[in-house]
Amino acid sequence: MQVFKFGGASVKNAEGVKNLASVLQQVGYENTLVVVSAMGKTTNALEIVIKNYFDNKSELQSSIQDVKKYHNEILLELFENTQHAVFKKVSSIFEDLDYFLSRNKSPDYNFVYDQVIGFGELTSTTIISTYLNEIGLKNNWLDVREFIKTDDYYRRANVDWEHTQYKIKTNFDSSVLNITQGFLGSDANNFTTTLGREGSDYTAAIFAYCLNAESVTIWKDVPGVLNADPRYFENAQLLNSISYREAIELAFYGASVIHPKTLQPLQQKEIPLFVKSFLNPKNSGTMVGKGIGLEPDIPCYIVKKNQVLISLSSLDFSYIVEENISEIFKLLHLYKMKVDVIQNSAISFSVCFENTYNNLDRLLQHLKAKFKVTFHENVSLYTVRHYNEQAITSIESGKELLLKQLTQETIQIVTK
Ligand code: ADP
Ligand code: ASP
Ligand code: MG
Repeated sequence: MQVFKFGGASVKNAEGVKNLASVLQQVGYENTLVVVSAMGKTTNALEIVIKNYFDNKSELQSSIQDVKKYHNEILLELFENTQHAVFKKVSSIFEDLDYFLSRNKSPDYNFVYDQVIGFGELTSTTIISTYLNEIGLKNNWLDVREFIKTDDYYRRANVDWEHTQYKIKTNFDSSVLNITQGFLGSDANNFTTTLGREGSDYTAAIFAYCLNAESVTIWKDVPGVLNADPRYFENAQLLNSISYREAIELAFYGASVIHPKTLQPLQQKEIPLFVKSFLNPKNSGTMVGKGIGLEPDIPCYIVKKNQVLISLSSLDFSYIVEENISEIFKLLHLYKMKVDVIQNSAISFSVCFENTYNNLDRLLQHLKAKFKVTFHENVSLYTVRHYNEQAITSIESGKELLLKQLTQETIQIVTK
């Protein structure tokens, strides 16, 4: 039993769907579960729909129309016969979306978000499953919400492992090719929940864990895990193999190629994770597994842009002590800032974070009442694992250095 995950980039158009079929034909699809995300940037497009809905924007209808049109164009390229039942099926999915929005009375943004955002995955898997059946790759379409059970912490739901394990053990037929949605689950009342943005990798890992799968493969637009994001670094090199621990560290520091939650369930059962190119499916890509360190052993670079760096000192030049730090963290938590680096000295405390929910002004207002505050927006945080002198120089050259912190294996540098 193997689990495959195809992300949005792999199925962003009709050609991508055809390529998915070709990958399955090339590498084999017996006893395979295929987890699929929403097509292309559909999740972002649905986020706009949700925002328009809550802001009572006149653009609501046109934003829904954009999503419908995008999928319809893909359908028209995949199915010559416009009388094919798939057109009706996809229309009826969108009717469900219209129906939900017209009937909804809940003012809970996060709840509504999860009910709406899932239409991306429901549509993509319906199109892909039907297309594969059409060309002879017989498969079952599964509603993932009948398998992955979660709490009702909408937008970042926590998996109820016991219940999920039970559902998968009793209802999942692993002897056939199955296609299902990434990212989604359902709560005790059967409302749709989501596992957090980019959560489809995690879905693949949850199934692999519960099914004791032999392996998980995530198919990407890159040859595998590289020692840097090729969008920001030239000459990024392929890592042939890395340990779970190393992959967890890279994901934690922000290497967006693997969702951070994906690795722990796989590590627990020692299920290998392959990251491979959907354009060259026969290439070996990267294997993440037990105890293999990092091969080749080279520095790995991670950059996070658009971070905020604030430095605080007390108004009366007294020391920054536990009490102040705990207060600062309470506020960071209150405003949902994702903290990346902290550094403290006797009279000052610096913290670099991501202003995920645009709460910076309110946070600063709060802090300024108690501390002397300096801050920089739009800074970049570079993390280098397994750094050497040359790696540090290459990051620092030509930039204004705001903060630097070293541990034995990792250096973090904040620049302007
Ligand atoms: P998916 O379609 O599965 O959602 P993503 O776009 O989330 O795929 O992830 C693939 C992208 O991750 C690549 O195009 C690449 O720009 C980026 N990326 C970031 N860090 C790395 C890395 N260390 N190695 C490879 N790709 C990386
Ligand atoms: N479609 C979701 C997202 O874009 C989940 C995923 O792609 O992993 O966040
Ligand atoms: Mg992604």
